[in-house]
Amino acid sequence: MTDFQYHLDQKYARLRAGLELKPRDYSWRISQLGSLKRLIIENEEALCLALWKDLRKSKFECLGTEQGVVLSEIDLTLRKLRSWMKTRRVSTPLFSQPGRSYIRREPLGLTLIIGAWNYPINLMLAPLVAAIAGGNGAILKPSEIAVHSARLLTELVPRYLDQDLFCVIEGGIEETNRILAKKFDLIFFTGSSEVGKIILAKAAPHLTPTILELGGKSPAIVWKDADLKVSARRIVWGKFVNAGQTCVAPDYLIVHPDVRSGLMNELILAIKDFYGPDASLSPDYCRMINQKNFDRVAGLLPGLSILYGGKTNRDDLYIEPTIAEAFETSAIMQDEIFGPILPVLEMSELPKVFRFINAREKPLALYVFTTDKGVVDLVSSSTSSGGVCVNDNVIHMPVQSLPFGGVGASGMGSYHGRFGFESFTHAKGILKKSFWFDLPVRYPPYSKRKLAWMKRLFR
Ligand code: NAD
Repeated sequence: MTDFQYHLDQKYARLRAGLELKPRDYSWRISQLGSLKRLIIENEEALCLALWKDLRKSKFECLGTEQGVVLSEIDLTLRKLRSWMKTRRVSTPLFSQPGRSYIRREPLGLTLIIGAWNYPINLMLAPLVAAIAGGNGAILKPSEIAVHSARLLTELVPRYLDQDLFCVIEGGIEETNRILAKKFDLIFFTGSSEVGKIILAKAAPHLTPTILELGGKSPAIVWKDADLKVSARRIVWGKFVNAGQTCVAPDYLIVHPDVRSGLMNELILAIKDFYGPDASLSPDYCRMINQKNFDRVAGLLPGLSILYGGKTNRDDLYIEPTIAEAFETSAIMQDEIFGPILPVLEMSELPKVFRFINAREKPLALYVFTTDKGVVDLVSSSTSSGGVCVNDNVIHMPVQSLPFGGVGASGMGSYHGRFGFESFTHAKGILKKSFWFDLPVRYPPYSKRKLAWMKRLFR
């Protein structure tokens, strides 16, 4: 037996035992959420440093897109948990009278949270908030690619959280597969659609419910009546934050021909305004996570007609914010880009836009920039996507009153706020009856009179 397997078996057994022994009631959950909050606040500098080393993330982005998202999830959960946990009374139909019906949200048990590398702290700890809120234990498996963040979580989690119910296990594909061989009560996976299929297959033998937070090509439509300056600034931020390595980044633009040149000018102005004439010198511009991803994204550049940018530096893992012309059949329109290249297509008719989008896998997000409400309604009702954001991008993700998740190839299930609590609990239906009235008509022998009663009941 390898060391890894030995430690995995030990930790798994400890967590399974912890689930049996610990009550995981409201006060336990609140205290764990408080500890998680302290973990983030007391280690702010160390978390920022790890993210700098992994992705050269600025402190502003660390606090906003990583720690900040988790802290606001914790705060909302601390405020709302008591009401979310309440057993809810619901109506009871005539045939079950006299009786009372309830929905009780019960913990699922031992959960497995597998993360991606692009927001390595957020993608581990935000689902963990939901796991704790639901009263579960969890094994966290961070991405091995964001090395420094993974190492730091491994060090911090046991210092703050209940070690009988939570642990971090690091590893790559082989180790993840060993973990997946164990039985879990929920798998929460964030990553690519390709690996999502593997995870789902590994969950099948145990019939483990699985939430898949995947990626895809999220389009942004800029229509002829959009405010070009504001649209451009928002798109440039959404596309180039984290150097394009964001699951909900606009993957490509579809622009109405009337505003194409105006939008191009504004996009270029915004890039220069945010990152200066040479983005490699900007302290706010991230790097590609590693050489493999650098090579993949930089490899898309030679075939493109570049409108802005295009410079690269492999030693520095730098790819300049880049805008390129694209056509429906361009190679760059095949797979998720997940890097700082923004292809631009031109389309003048909405039905054509819908045909184009609907011929592809359902995206995680869809963006439309327009002042025409009719266009917004049409876009929203004619396409399917995990979420829609009107006149902005990416920023819908941390809205806690909205479910965050994909549809079709971009994922299944959702989280954030109450949606996370619901995903990490089972909605148990409970019907309570008393003994004082026992309707005889339901019992055999089934006479004609009973049959007539039955027919009447369901009409
Ligand atoms: P990935 O699918 O390569 O890896 C994700 C996790 O799966 C990692 O922890 C990795 O160790 C593990 N893994 C990889 N290959 C595996 C295998 N064969 N068997 C078992 N486990 C395996 O994804 P990534 O490169 O880390 O992240 C990029 C992708 O994630 C993009 O597609 C992006 O859109 C998506 N993403 C989605 C969200 C979301 O919330 N929907 C957020 C971030 C990233």
